[in-house]
Amino acid sequence: MEKQLDRATAGFTVQKAAEAKLPTEFGPFRIVGFRSLNSDEEFVALVKGDIKPEEPTLVRIHSQCLTGDVFHSLKCDCGPQLQRAMEMIQDEGKGIIVYQQQEGRGIGIVNKIRAYALQDQGADTIEANVQLGFGIDEREYHQCAEVIKLLGARRLRLMSNNPDKVRALRDAKLEVVERVPLEVKSHQPAFKYLMTKKEKMGHLLQLNGIF
Ligand SMILES: [Zn+2]
Repeated sequence: MEKQLDRATAGFTVQKAAEAKLPTEFGPFRIVGFRSLNSDEEFVALVKGDIKPEEPTLVRIHSQCLTGDVFHSLKCDCGPQLQRAMEMIQDEGKGIIVYQQQEGRGIGIVNKIRAYALQDQGADTIEANVQLGFGIDEREYHQCAEVIKLLGARRLRLMSNNPDKVRALRDAKLEVVERVPLEVKSHQPAFKYLMTKKEKMGHLLQLNGIF
């Protein structure tokens, strides 16, 4: 059995480290913790139902956004997107959210606050990152793809507006059978941010629900 497990996880750079039940406002989930084997990074996945490789599975990679997820910031749509993803998985009875702890598209929370300060002076989200010496998007998704594989999914209905995520998961040999749009109502302060994502980063957004 142990040998089989070794073979199944050979070549992976993340390892499952813990699993527990997590009752939430949206319904019961399992929370699974993973550790990177080549860095200090940790990953968390919320999982619901029996994940089978042959069945298309609702999946979201949610990048940590302290300001949006925790403080309910109106500068972005991350918090409502996470909640919507949990609702959709609860309705479906099955799915995975990988919570990737790469704050601020990979630049960290303090640098994200610096970027917000530049945005207060008129820069958009990309210009601010560039002024701080960062790339437009510093995130990496290959370990998220490994987490999805270790949880047993192979065929994904990916909840995302970000074509980079679709490409990264396909490159990691996961089959994205469908992209499920995840558009939520956003508030006016997020409008410029979302327009920048749409026009400069190619995000697939309609932006009909701004209020
Ligand atoms: Zn956000």
